[in-house]
Amino acid sequence: MQQYIAQLNEAQQAPVFQKDGPMIIIAGAGSGKTRVLTVRISYLMSLGVDAFNILALTFTNKAAREMKKRIADIVGNNEAKNLWMGTFHSVFAKILRIEAEKLGYPSNFTIYDTQDSVRLISAIIKEMQLDKDIYKPKQVYSRISSYKNSLITVKAYFNNPELMEADAMSKKPRMGEIYQNYVERCFKSGAMDFDDLLLKTNELLNRFPDVLAKYQDRFRYILVDEYQDTNHSQYLIVRALSDRFQNICVVGDDAQSIYAFRGANINNILNFQKDYDNVKTYRLEQNYRSTKNIVEAANSIIDKNKTKLDKVVWTANDFGPKIKVHRSLTDGEEGRFVAGEIFEQKMRNQLMNGQFAILYRTNAQSRAMEDALRKRDIPYRIYGGLSFYQRKEIKDVLSYLRLVINPKDEEALVRVINYPARGIGDTTVEKLTVAANHYKRSIFEVMEHIDKIDLKLNAGTKQKLQDFVTMIKSFQVINEQQDAFVLTEHVAKKTGLIQELKKDATPEGIARIENIETLMGGIKDFIEGQKEVDGARGALSEFLEDVALATDLDNDTGDDDRVALMTIHLAKGLEFPYVFVVGMEEDLFPSAMSLNTRSELEEERRLFYVALTRAEHQAYLTYAQSRYRWGKLTDAEPSRFIEEIDDQYLEYINPMDRGGYTYKPSIDLDIFGDIDKSKLRLSKPVAGIPPKTYGEEPSSSANIRKLKPVSGSAPAAGNLFDNKLAVGNVVMHERFGRGEIVNMEGVGADRKAEIKFEVGGIKKLLLRFAKLDVI
Ligand code: ATP
Ligand code: MG
Repeated sequence: MQQYIAQLNEAQQAPVFQKDGPMIIIAGAGSGKTRVLTVRISYLMSLGVDAFNILALTFTNKAAREMKKRIADIVGNNEAKNLWMGTFHSVFAKILRIEAEKLGYPSNFTIYDTQDSVRLISAIIKEMQLDKDIYKPKQVYSRISSYKNSLITVKAYFNNPELMEADAMSKKPRMGEIYQNYVERCFKSGAMDFDDLLLKTNELLNRFPDVLAKYQDRFRYILVDEYQDTNHSQYLIVRALSDRFQNICVVGDDAQSIYAFRGANINNILNFQKDYDNVKTYRLEQNYRSTKNIVEAANSIIDKNKTKLDKVVWTANDFGPKIKVHRSLTDGEEGRFVAGEIFEQKMRNQLMNGQFAILYRTNAQSRAMEDALRKRDIPYRIYGGLSFYQRKEIKDVLSYLRLVINPKDEEALVRVINYPARGIGDTTVEKLTVAANHYKRSIFEVMEHIDKIDLKLNAGTKQKLQDFVTMIKSFQVINEQQDAFVLTEHVAKKTGLIQELKKDATPEGIARIENIETLMGGIKDFIEGQKEVDGARGALSEFLEDVALATDLDNDTGDDDRVALMTIHLAKGLEFPYVFVVGMEEDLFPSAMSLNTRSELEEERRLFYVALTRAEHQAYLTYAQSRYRWGKLTDAEPSRFIEEIDDQYLEYINPMDRGGYTYKPSIDLDIFGDIDKSKLRLSKPVAGIPPKTYGEEPSSSANIRKLKPVSGSAPAAGNLFDNKLAVGNVVMHERFGRGEIVNMEGVGADRKAEIKFEVGGIKKLLLRFAKLDVI
């Protein structure tokens, strides 16, 4: 133990040595917060605290697994095994399984993933005959999610005129009814969605003091990583559980709070001192992860935020290379640059693929990156997006398995009742749904009693429904006798799924069968793992729970060497030697949707801080001047975040980017009228030219950067209005580089310049299209 403590600096040791009482560790990125948690847990155990009495909540299951592994290295595997460690969702799903019946749920309740939830909401919207363009299912889902995370139950909703009014104002007066229907349908199906896992835990702890007392007594030491991103529901759970012993240790960084859009409340960290008595606050200041350039650049960014705790972050590491900034014409070119750079860096410095990460603001950006990486034969892995378990063929198999465990599961049932086709049509399913809603029973129960209910179904259809019921029940029998692997193999064959997929001999069809084989392999691994842990049979229900809560990040075995692609949100807490932050463009990052208020913009800036601080050795910021968005080519200008970094930390790969205005001359703009950003692209101003011509950051409603027209001798005219261009001028062209104007001809839109380039000789360019800067 001593040796692990010795590896910490003094500031890191202090919270490790404080055994009891509430404490908060607030510190910047890379300062060892997560590491301190790991050592602290080990130290508690070395003092004799039972692993059963420790609860550690992490941001991903992967983080929990890694932490557990490190603790096992210190205290031994047998001890570490008994720790309660995981995400809020996975830990409380386990507790809810134990206590489900108190809340009226079966202990084998299903966990609906987002896809299930959104599909159910779509169905409800359809049944209520509402307009899907107004009641957009995904939007409705996130609204319901935010109610749940604020502990606004259906009843609370209908008791809150303000909420109802707000929904009515946004043209959704029937929001409450959808919410109510959705909750009833989930309940009837014996299903909880992700948010229920927290909401119901709160309900459990509130309504049953004996249950609360039991878990308070059990979790005598509670530790929470990434506390800045807890939402209200999570906050209340932690408070309730830690109330008795008050041995609560939270770590976080207000500068990395990036989940407000999902209900995370930064005040949880800011108010921690008020929530408990005698809180000890610890600060860590030394960053061990990154070079000086990266640490200092990141500091300079976060300095621009007004709402923040004062913090010092420094590093004893080398300066390292400067942050490289690269501009390209299109997103395709951006991808090629990134792939090329990875290729070269690997060659030059003997690096592995796994040392590189490409981070983006939105999942859609991965496409261009993927294309380019494939062309260069660089293996990569995308995290997030559609996870393996959400692929159609996998969900189909899993739906059958879910029905075996919980036949009430309506989403699973609707999905496979007629897949592979067995002659049970949509009309029949509709009739069943109506009957189920009427009797407040599940569809499966209606099917079990189909003889006694008059749904005007013909005898053939009734028979098919009964056959389906019999088939699921036969699976249940197998499940009682065999392990999950045997059952899944049986299900895949008996349902006709495999035969169905075999009909499709295209590469995609073959890939689907391979995916099912991968799933089978995963089940086998799971069973083996379970046997190792507690000699268990490898219960199907536990496998399904793991699957429901798995994120893509969790499945990373780290075995194969690949470049990691993910959104910045997903990268929180991780680190990579080389990091590319791509798509550094206005309206993309910061996102166009976040420019309405200062606080939204500040959240984007924190996101940028998170992105940059993932890098250990080298960071790249890249942007494109145009990219395909929403199906069309859109112009883009570089992100303000690049400009916010002090120049001393940056190295521009395209030399002309450092200073000088660059125009998009293909667009007519009236230089004496209002200039708006859609027509003008600014990069860094050079010395002697008025500095930033746009005002302060948007304060409230301004959602575009205000570009004050430059008066008088503005360098503004550029080449488009050619009055500043003359024979003899030395210019810089985007692609051809430096050259001298040797001749001018034509007028207006036809005005052309003949330029002698240093490389490539004389070219005649139409000024309307040429991208020229006078230098
Ligand atoms: P983030 O805010 O990004 O989650 P963090 O504060 O949790 O970061 P860690 O991930 O714990 O930081 O640590 C960052 C890196 O620094 C890790 O690689 C860790 O092993 C290393 N590190 C932390 N403390 C020390 C130390 N005292 N000596 C050497 N390396 C350290
Ligand atoms: Mg961390």
